[in-house]
Amino acid sequence: MCGITAYVGNDNALPFLLQGLVKLEYRGYDSAGVTIIDSANKINTYKAKGRIKNLEELLEGNHVEGKIGIGHTRWATHGVPSNLNAHPHTNNTYTISIVHNGIIENYQELKKDLIEKGYHFNSQTDSEVVVHLLDYYYHGDMHEALKKVISIIEGSYALCVVHNDNPNVIYITKKDSPIVLGRTQTASLAGSDIPAILDYAKDVYFMEDGEIAVLTKDDITFYDADDKLIQKELIHIPYDNEAAQKGGYDSFMLKEIHEQPYVIKETLRGRVENGDRVVLPELDAIHDKLPSYNKAYFVACGTAYHSSIFGASVLEKLAGIPTITQVASEFRYNDPIVDENTLAFFVSQSGETADTMAALRLAKQKGATTIAIVNVLGSSISREADYTIYTLAGPEIAVASTKAYTTQIVVMELVAMYIAQALNRNSYDYRKLIEGLSSLPAYLEEILKDEEIFKGYAKLLEHERDCYYIGRGLDYASVLEGALKVKEVSYIHADAYVAGELKHGPIALIEEGSIVIAVATQPNIASKTISNIQETIARGARVVLFTIEGLDVQGVENTYILPNVDQLLQGILVAVPLQLIAYYTAVFKNCDVDKPRNLAKSVTVE
Ligand code: GLU
Repeated sequence: MCGITAYVGNDNALPFLLQGLVKLEYRGYDSAGVTIIDSANKINTYKAKGRIKNLEELLEGNHVEGKIGIGHTRWATHGVPSNLNAHPHTNNTYTISIVHNGIIENYQELKKDLIEKGYHFNSQTDSEVVVHLLDYYYHGDMHEALKKVISIIEGSYALCVVHNDNPNVIYITKKDSPIVLGRTQTASLAGSDIPAILDYAKDVYFMEDGEIAVLTKDDITFYDADDKLIQKELIHIPYDNEAAQKGGYDSFMLKEIHEQPYVIKETLRGRVENGDRVVLPELDAIHDKLPSYNKAYFVACGTAYHSSIFGASVLEKLAGIPTITQVASEFRYNDPIVDENTLAFFVSQSGETADTMAALRLAKQKGATTIAIVNVLGSSISREADYTIYTLAGPEIAVASTKAYTTQIVVMELVAMYIAQALNRNSYDYRKLIEGLSSLPAYLEEILKDEEIFKGYAKLLEHERDCYYIGRGLDYASVLEGALKVKEVSYIHADAYVAGELKHGPIALIEEGSIVIAVATQPNIASKTISNIQETIARGARVVLFTIEGLDVQGVENTYILPNVDQLLQGILVAVPLQLIAYYTAVFKNCDVDKPRNLAKSVTVE
């Protein structure tokens, strides 16, 4: 998920490795490290928790020189941020060193096996299995060992490997995690993202899954997944470093919206088995206790509150546990009725949200079992909760949350299914729901191709002062979040209502030209929402409707039909067009989308 750099050439490797890591700093990370092989063929590894500056300070005291090395900034997925868990990882005899981005799904069984074989583990990471496996399969040819290892490991990875037997070569491979390579006159370089190498190479090679690259100071040789030697084309990067950091997109928000198919896949990785069973080892400790809970709470702020409204409904529906959703700043002062029979979820992207943290402490004090759903590993909320389930959205830089929202819902769907299965509630077709979850990335790719349509909807909002979002049931969570996005980034006053409430007040505001954005994806009530839409049209509203196939939408000016997935999943699909509408409205209004006024990314004050 985070940063990799690699260098083999005529010069000292360290300056490139560190500069490259600094260029990847914008992605966010929790620790950093480098391995340099020196002229005596010794592997020297330095790692430090925290900023790259800490690593630099550590290196200052040591005279680290060598013409080959690998570097890493870590965004922890398995094992808290710490010096030991930072990469690179080395084998027990300090002859091999690796850096890894991604997740090794089957690391637990591999680790068990390696420990039985006598290997000693220094970290809690999933990544460390790779270096011991390489050690086990290395018989003088690292290329062969790497081939063997990638046939065993499952998951996502970009891997760089060095061995001091062959101190002039770096081996690189990847699957579902990016890596780019480049050449200078005197060196071969690699980075997990273009900014790491762009100052040195404007023409780069992109690797495909299963390929292996062998880097020496003179050239880079590529092999395909069948181990055949291949020629790869150099691709010219037409933009500068700043644009490259945004992945070629105009902003982090747009980049993060487009990352959703990928991060949803990452969040699901290793969490379903045999197509119908949810695997969440994080909750296994309370598996047998689950029948004793008579109530659940979802507590959060902002966007996480909206995903919580959604998640609470899904939990109630699947597991049959009455579930209350509350804003954290209310919960903490409301003297909530919480006891040892309460299961309480605390949801936060950063894991540092002050109100959510205070609410968590209160629930714990009252005896509830507390579960955190957070994105940042090792964050305060994850440390204080009894159990934590991570979304694997990767670092989110834009202040307005996008990919954290959809991955939170994905985790909540998994949690609800896990609990329902533990309670033997079999009324829902879990196989279909899991199939639906797995199909989301592909559907989202399709939706993202319709960006021009959503841009067109944003045009409707551009000159408005107010707009209205309506939906029922699960769609209510979607419209709350859609309206919040518009408020946050484009500063248009957006109100979200349960569609059935319109006639109890807000319809008084509808006049000629009012913009109404409606979501109607729940088969049992979609037609009711569409009737409410007709009521607004009769009063002059211009409507944008997101719905499913088969409903009578006559008279609606703009209708977007969403792909046909399980109704419990539509909220994930519709989130993306709503994000894009907010985004383009802000762009048309020349707003600073990544840093909206008055807002902070991580709200660590009450
Ligand atoms: N899963 C690995 C870890 O937690 C790699 C994380 C990353 O991609 O930065 O160490």
